[in-house]
Amino acid sequence: APSDMMKNEPDTDFDLSQNQEWVRRIFAKWKKNGTEEPEIIPLQIGAETVVCESRYKYLDRCQNDEVCICEMSQADSGQVEKIIGIAEADPAGWRKTTLEERHRIMYEASNRLADMRGDLIGCMCAVTGKTVIEGDVEVSEAVDYARFYTTAMKKFAVLDDIEMKPKGTILVISPWNFPCAIPVGGIVAGLAGGNTVILKPATVAAPVAWMFAKAFWEAGVPKEALQVIITNREALKVLTTAPAIKHIILTGGTDTAQNIAKTAPATPLSAETGGKNAIILTASGDRDHAIMNTVASAFGNAGQKCSACSLLLVERSVYEDENFQSKLKDAATSLKTGSVWNAGNVVGPMITNKNDKLLKAFKLKPGESWLVPPRFIDEKEYILAPTVKWGVKSGSFSFCTELFGPLLSVGCIDSLEEGIDLVNDLYYGLTSGLQSLDEAEQKLWKDTLSAGNLYINRGITGAIVNRQPFGGMNMSAFGGGLKAGGPNYCTCFVEITDKPDSK
Ligand code: GLU
Repeated sequence: APSDMMKNEPDTDFDLSQNQEWVRRIFAKWKKNGTEEPEIIPLQIGAETVVCESRYKYLDRCQNDEVCICEMSQADSGQVEKIIGIAEADPAGWRKTTLEERHRIMYEASNRLADMRGDLIGCMCAVTGKTVIEGDVEVSEAVDYARFYTTAMKKFAVLDDIEMKPKGTILVISPWNFPCAIPVGGIVAGLAGGNTVILKPATVAAPVAWMFAKAFWEAGVPKEALQVIITNREALKVLTTAPAIKHIILTGGTDTAQNIAKTAPATPLSAETGGKNAIILTASGDRDHAIMNTVASAFGNAGQKCSACSLLLVERSVYEDENFQSKLKDAATSLKTGSVWNAGNVVGPMITNKNDKLLKAFKLKPGESWLVPPRFIDEKEYILAPTVKWGVKSGSFSFCTELFGPLLSVGCIDSLEEGIDLVNDLYYGLTSGLQSLDEAEQKLWKDTLSAGNLYINRGITGAIVNRQPFGGMNMSAFGGGLKAGGPNYCTCFVEITDKPDSK
């Protein structure tokens, strides 16, 4: 029987030679060379599987877009309507299962996810250009979500007089930057409460979703209760505006959340959106430690995390110290950058070479300079080496804008208070960090900084399920500051009523 104690799934130890050998096998399977026919991923409409004429083609960015990895079927409006109809009708009776049964099935799914770790990582490397290490932690996080949400829900369910009922059908819209953990979290949150789920993963990363969906189906989630689709724009509108959709869980850009809220104003929307996350380093911080944590938070996954650090605010005495500047520069330039098919590279390609905001930040404003200038490694300009901009002033484009690439902006502050005010004035409020060994500073910062996840003297990415419930404030969150991986997350996707027989 599954345990009610939540244990976090461990990551792989890549120092072990057998695991390095395992990585070589993953690469041999997933690095395509263009000689074999690409896999064609069908569309699943309930229990029926169809191959569509309209398909999205996945190209390997680490091989200059020259090799096709796979193709995936895209649903049209008619097919989307069918899918919604099935989710609403729930012919397999998922709604009638007990929480105990769903808990068992989610544990079974979590074990299957853990068993397919290598393929999930390989698929992420190929399709989204994640490094093995970034993909590995994401699989652990997905396994954790699958175990945690029903465990948490069971604890809630024993509270006296309440009864939880499914809301109906939940639409999960997930991003490409965490193509495994985030959609798995969303679907488990929906399924845990007895809802049927339609998952619309980001098109550019959707083959990963097709792969893990099988783990859920094989574990006992009916195909009618969990459907995974990608669509064209028109069909997406049909999906988001369908009255059968009782709640939308979105992780994506703030503008996407705003658009969805506009198109489907009557549907509850819970969204985790953008961030412009800062680390403040004061004169009493450990500089080497701060540099290490900042660099890891800024350049992991090529800076493409909502939680990424993209602003470092440094107290003047440290900021002006040339030794500090050269150490930060060395730390950024020493990160090996390039194709993820070389496991030694820690910074891989970006998802797009048309990130307008990032390209705009390449223009220096008055007072700005490059500590490490932008430099692309590949012909197609997907792979940008870690870049550090110096002298960024509050209110400027680089200071305020989420760039979603490996560019860190550094600015100067005269006091911790000034830094806190500047961070609190930003539009977002997702993660934030302080590097200071002074307890009074830590207390001041913790008490006054408004962001969802606060981290002292460590990196600001990589929240762990059940340990660091993840979610923001201000424009980083819509629908009431939900915390993914937190104890009350999935209770937001059920109707909670009195137990009729308890009075
Ligand atoms: N949960 C992830 C972290 O803590 C970030 C998720 C995101 O980028 O959307 O780093």
